[in-house]
Amino acid sequence: MTPQVLVVGAGPVGMTMAAELARYGVPVRIVDKAAQRTDKSKALVIWSRTLELFDRAGCSGTFVAAGHKVTAANIVAGQKAIGHVDISVVDSPYPFALMLPQSETERLLEEHLARLGVRVERQVEVASFAKQDHGVTTVFRHADGREETLETDWLIGCDGAHSTVRHGLGLSFLGDTLQSDWMLADVHLSGYPFPESEIATYWHEDGVLVVFPISPGRARVIADIGQSTGALPPQPTLEQTQQLIDRRGPGGMVVSDPIWLTAFRINERKVGDYRSGHVFVVGDAAHVHSPAGGQGMNTGMQDAFNLAWKLALVCRKTCSEKLLDSYSVERSAVGEQVLKAAGRLTAVAIMRNHTAQIVRNVLGHALFGLGPVRRAMANQMAEVSIGYDHSPLNGPAAHGMTGPEPGERVVPVAGQVPAGSGNVPRFALFAEFGSGVTELIKEFAELLDPDLRPPLHTGGMWLVRPDGYVACVARSGDTKAIADYLGALGRGAVICRE
Ligand SMILES: Cc1cc2nc3c(=O)[nH]c(=O)nc-3n(C[C@H](O)[C@H](O)[C@H](O)COP(=O)(O)OP(=O)(O)OC[C@H]3O[C@@H](n4cnc5c(N)ncnc54)[C@H](O)[C@@H]3O)c2cc1C
Repeated sequence: MTPQVLVVGAGPVGMTMAAELARYGVPVRIVDKAAQRTDKSKALVIWSRTLELFDRAGCSGTFVAAGHKVTAANIVAGQKAIGHVDISVVDSPYPFALMLPQSETERLLEEHLARLGVRVERQVEVASFAKQDHGVTTVFRHADGREETLETDWLIGCDGAHSTVRHGLGLSFLGDTLQSDWMLADVHLSGYPFPESEIATYWHEDGVLVVFPISPGRARVIADIGQSTGALPPQPTLEQTQQLIDRRGPGGMVVSDPIWLTAFRINERKVGDYRSGHVFVVGDAAHVHSPAGGQGMNTGMQDAFNLAWKLALVCRKTCSEKLLDSYSVERSAVGEQVLKAAGRLTAVAIMRNHTAQIVRNVLGHALFGLGPVRRAMANQMAEVSIGYDHSPLNGPAAHGMTGPEPGERVVPVAGQVPAGSGNVPRFALFAEFGSGVTELIKEFAELLDPDLRPPLHTGGMWLVRPDGYVACVARSGDTKAIADYLGALGRGAVICRE
């Protein structure tokens, strides 16, 4: 079948993108210039919200079975416990951080893609592309030097931080490179003083040391190692890792059998617009930031989830292209927030001034003593507090209703089929069965899931997008409000909140 969409890059974001499009019946091709998947553990955490979104494709269970659950994060300064953030309180069917090396995440995604009938074409590099009025012409270079030209309706650049697609569009990647060097060691670890279901961050006067349990006996250690001198820092040795742990940790931890040792720098950069005509940028191609909080890959995958259902509705000719304008508005705002939050976490962890460190430790202890602060932090890390308050897709909300508002996430209920499941990107109606509902479902068969879910609060009806965010809220029985929203969406009219 002629592909309607070309996905460039088969990292975690590109494979999520291609899988979601394929699930919704869009003919897609995915290429990667590399000969094989990464064998590095890079992004280690899959957060609650990402698992909720994978659940729509029925594959979260596979990830959970392969990963290691972490349910709390500790912050320690010297001998003093500064804070303990309980992740198990996150209101989600997945109240934990799932530790899974990126190499494994990519393996599972490639298997998921194969089940959907899509094969990653490796050693195929996008050399250039040209935007046309109604599509894109792309030139590939194959491993044997052969060139191939492909016409598609849409091109999606999931090609990482050095994105060819972003460069081709001439998009500025605005931001900075932080002036500190970092080391990362995936090692075997003994003597860890916390349960292996808990992360530990040690604030030391020299800098920060973070220990992430990956699986029993295995952990990732990250630390800042001083001011940058210009050249990329050399790969750390196991001995240097041990010295850092001895100096900044509580004592008694021993590292051995390194799996991956590397040094890196932190870039904080983002494009202004994630779309240019029939071309999109997604994931690291659109934003890169500090690994603090483990948000990079998750944010990229959620960009893909956001774009996929919209593009599928356009490719299926159910909605007009106008729907796609909301992708950049919604995801650029999230990218901005993630960049700032990760930057703040990093700056607080590596502050050098001794007085500032004392103030940080006192303030940190006071703040982490407050339940609402701990809960807000857990929700933010788990990405369940992400919403689209200012989305152009937010429809009206009936006044005085209790329950989630347009743009807010609907908390998935374990055992209930999530909105956006199946092979058609449909909205879900959370309402009592009553007069008008059957007609509504019949009238909008392409856009509305025929299965009703129970209302989220008495007296109301909630129309929920295929990615689980509220589209509009009406009083029970006011099917006209829902019909108006869906009608406007199909026609491509701008939807405005009253
Ligand atoms: C040391 C390290 C630690 C990290 N730790 C974390 C963490 O704990 N948590 C977290 O969330 N994130 C972490 N990250 C970031 C995370 O790895 C990235 O956010 C994630 O890989 C982004 O996925 P992506 O699919 O957007 O891009 P990538 O994974 O970079 O994939 C892009 C793909 O595009 C391909 N490609 C590029 N150009 C072309 C072209 N012209 N033609 C065809 N193919 C092309 C590449 O070969 C590559 O396979 C870490 C990264 C590093 C380096």
